[in-house]
Order: sequence, then structure tokens, then C-alpha cells
Amino acid sequence: MNAPVLETEEHQALRAAVAALGKRYGRDYMTRVVRDEGHPDELWADAAKLGYLGVNLPEEYGGGGGGIAELSIILEELGAAGSPLLMMVVSPAICGTVIARFGTEAQQQTWLPGLADGSRTMAFGITEPDAGSNSHRITTTARRDGDDWILTGRKVFISGVDIADATLIVGRTEDARTGKLKPCLFIVPRDAPGFARHRIDMELQAPEKQFELVLDEVRLPADALVGDEDAGLLQLFAGLNPERIMTAAFSLGMARFALAQAVAYAKERSVWKSPIGAHQAIAHPLAQSHIEIELARLMMQKAARLYDDGDDLGAGEAANMAKFAAADACVKAVDQAVHTLGGNGLTKEFGLASLIVASRVARIAPVSREMILNFVSHQSLGLPKSY
Ligand SMILES: Cc1cc2nc3c(=O)[nH]c(=O)nc-3n(C[C@H](O)[C@H](O)[C@H](O)COP(=O)(O)OP(=O)(O)OC[C@H]3O[C@@H](n4cnc5c(N)ncnc54)[C@H](O)[C@@H]3O)c2cc1C
Repeated sequence: MNAPVLETEEHQALRAAVAALGKRYGRDYMTRVVRDEGHPDELWADAAKLGYLGVNLPEEYGGGGGGIAELSIILEELGAAGSPLLMMVVSPAICGTVIARFGTEAQQQTWLPGLADGSRTMAFGITEPDAGSNSHRITTTARRDGDDWILTGRKVFISGVDIADATLIVGRTEDARTGKLKPCLFIVPRDAPGFARHRIDMELQAPEKQFELVLDEVRLPADALVGDEDAGLLQLFAGLNPERIMTAAFSLGMARFALAQAVAYAKERSVWKSPIGAHQAIAHPLAQSHIEIELARLMMQKAARLYDDGDDLGAGEAANMAKFAAADACVKAVDQAVHTLGGNGLTKEFGLASLIVASRVARIAPVSREMILNFVSHQSLGLPKSY
């Protein structure tokens, strides 16, 4: 696959270097890790050593001083090699960004060097069982008790809580004037008393697991609150836009991996006179996938550029569109790849069938395709809000 011409030479060199690392691990490595119920620690450590995990974080805290553009390139290339690191979406992209932009000096010193060198990770929890896509309805609530906060609520589908040192939890505090609940972000250490997690049995074959969380009167110190109690929504979106861009990168990586397998197979496999790739019924859908991947990447690059340039509003629309396009491109590429391999598409040896489930994740999380269509109808096109 050609390096995209719209990227700088540094970006292209970064792509090539990450691709070389990815190639050393690849899908076989991830399959082994999942089978052994382990975690991709070796790849995580190697990526950390090369400065990849904190490439978007400030240099003064050990990061690379780059942006989401670089971080998304790294995730996409690891995914294209068959070995994506999902925790990159939450730890450096969401949590690192929010702490770097809105954390106190003390929070930055405590967390950023570890997030940047990969020695510490942070999960991110917003989804609630009774709120789902409607995050305005979340009820996890923080109340003051002296200088402390007491946090109570439930979360669901939160990834990587077992391996993360802490989880950045989206809760609410009561506005003293209006009585309305305002969104606020809290750092909750993994072993905080009253913070329980239960693994959800998913059909996904991935090393990162999902958890239901119960926060039962979790007592947190005053400095567990990240950022300003009164600017919660703005701070939240500062983290959610990188999450969407990184989810696009995750999807694009998987789509490219699947497409490459299918193309290689279609060139080799002959059951008539010529390879199956000579049949347009096989070639055209693969060509279309390639086009869709390239288009989605363009939108991802636009979103990353806007975000890194400080245009949160513009980045919001582009990040939603990039995630939408990349998730759809991924679902279609994986489906077509499985089909291209015929019976082999469903064997463990070729390892594509399990991607059918994995490729669906980005259509649902972190925000479903319908909610993006709602956003674009309402925000971009000015159509009436339907919900
Ligand atoms: C593998 C995985 C990992 C995840 N990791 C995390 C994590 O780390 N942290 C975290 O906070 N969350 C995480 N999530 C949760 C994810 O963000 C939610 O699943 C997602 O936001 C959708 O919420 P829901 O599952 O409650 O679906 P629901 O909100 O119940 O939606 C169900 C369906 O209804 C549709 N729908 C809902 N409202 C509307 C509407 N107004 N108009 C049209 N259609 C609508 C949706 O599009 C969807 O198709 C993860 C989910 C998965 C599957």
C-alpha cells in the first residue's frame, strides 16, 4: 500500500518505522496472546521504547511533543500489521490529552511521564447501563465530603480496567445554583475501596477485556478531579475527539490488514484458468474497499490536523465523519476479505473470521453510526433534532 502523499516526510518515515515494528509481531503474535489470555506486553514495551505511546504528549513530561496525527499513524500501522494496541485509544489519546490540557501541574507530573513511556496506563469510563448512547443521562454522581469526593454509580463495557493503573471516570457533580448535574472527570485508582469490576463475557477475540464497574461510595481526594468543575463538557470533548480519530485509525488498520490478506490470496488462488483475482466479482469489491479506506484516511487526517491545530469544533465534525467512514470501510473490507478466501476465510489458520466480530466494534463504540448520523443531520445540516 502506498504511503499517503498528503503526509510530511516525517510522517511517512514514522509509518515505515511503525510498520517494521508491526511486522516483527503481526497477527500470529496477537492470536497467541489472546489464546494464552495474556496481554501484548512485549509489543507495548517495544512501542514505548521507540517513543510511540506518548508521541502526542508534551515533551516536558517525556512525550514526543507531537499530536493525534502522529498517534493515529502509529495505531493504524500496528493494526495494518495485524497487531493493534487498543489501549492507545484510551490511555495516551483520551486520558493523556485531557490531563495534558486540563490537569493540574501535580496531576501532570503524577501521570504524564508514565502514560508517555507506557509504564502506566489509564482506562476511560463514560458508558452506563441505563444511559448508553445518551451520555446526558449518566447518573454516576460525586458529592463533596469535606475536601474529599464520594463517587457512586455504575459503568459498563469499560475496556482494560484490569490492566490500567486507574480509570478516568466521567461523573457528575451537582451545580450548587441550579441543582443540575454537570459532567466532571475523576481519576479512580484501580484498587480504590468500593471500586469493583466484573468482566463481561464478550464474543470478541482481543487481549483487552470489557468490564462492568460498580462505584460504591468511592472516596477520592480533592485532586482526583481533573480540570475545572465548571467546564466539564468542554474538557470531555477534548478527550472524545482524539478517541474518535483513534478509533478511525484502529478501523483503518484492521481494514488494511484484511484487504492485504484478501489481495494476496486472490493473486495466488486459481480454481479455473487464472487466479480468482482476475474475476471482477472478486477484484471490484476489493478495489472498492481500497478506495473507501483511502477516503476514510483522508478524513482522519483532516480531523487530526484540525484537532492538533486547536480547532476543537471543526475537529468534532471531522472526527465523527472519519470514525463513521473508517468503521464502515472496515466492516466491508473484513466481510469481503472473508468471502474472498472462500472456506479458508473461516479457518483459524487464516485468522480472518474473528475479525468479523472485531470489525463491528467501531460501528458501535465509542459512538454508534446512528448517533453520528444524528450529529451530522442536526449539527452539519441543520435538520430538526429527532430525539
Ligand atoms: C468492545 C467495546 C469496548 C468498549 N469500550 C468502552 C470504554 O472503554 N469506555 C466506555 O466508556 N465505553 C466503552 N464501550 C461502550 C460503547 O461506547 C457503547 O457500547 C456505545 O456508546 C453504545 O451504547 P450502548 O451499547 O448502550 O447502545 P445503545 O445506546 O443502547 O444503542 C443501541 C442501538 O440503538 C441505536 N440508537 C440509540 N439511540 C439512538 C437514536 N437517538 N437514534 C438512532 N439510533 C439510536 C444505536 O445506534 C445502537 O445501534 C465499549 C463498547 C464495546 C462494544
